[in-house]
Amino acid sequence: MTKIPSPETRATMGPDATTGPDALSADRTISRRTVLGGAALIGAGALCLRATRASAQQKQKQADVQYVDKAPGADKCAGCAMFQAPDACQGVEGKISPEGWCNIYSPKA
Ligand code: SF4
Repeated sequence: MTKIPSPETRATMGPDATTGPDALSADRTISRRTVLGGAALIGAGALCLRATRASAQQKQKQADVQYVDKAPGADKCAGCAMFQAPDACQGVEGKISPEGWCNIYSPKA
């Protein structure tokens, strides 16, 4: 038979693990774990989405963006945000001249 301690005795026994302040702390730990686990899943999902987008971003063909080796105006590949010196482009396939231009030209900021 279990003896039920008096309120005075319980006050000197310290916090009860199931009903005292530690119980709240335990709940918070579980909750934190749940939240952190959810955050990890969200992060993993974001990485997968990013990888999918990166593989979906393919360079366009030069003909499709009307690329020319000699720019018709003042805007040239060398001044484009997508130009990658010495002769490449993030958005267009093949060798790109710094003197060239295409219709997706985007000036550097
Ligand atoms: S204008 Fe810009 S996007 Fe077009 S080919 Fe030149 S560097 Fe690439």
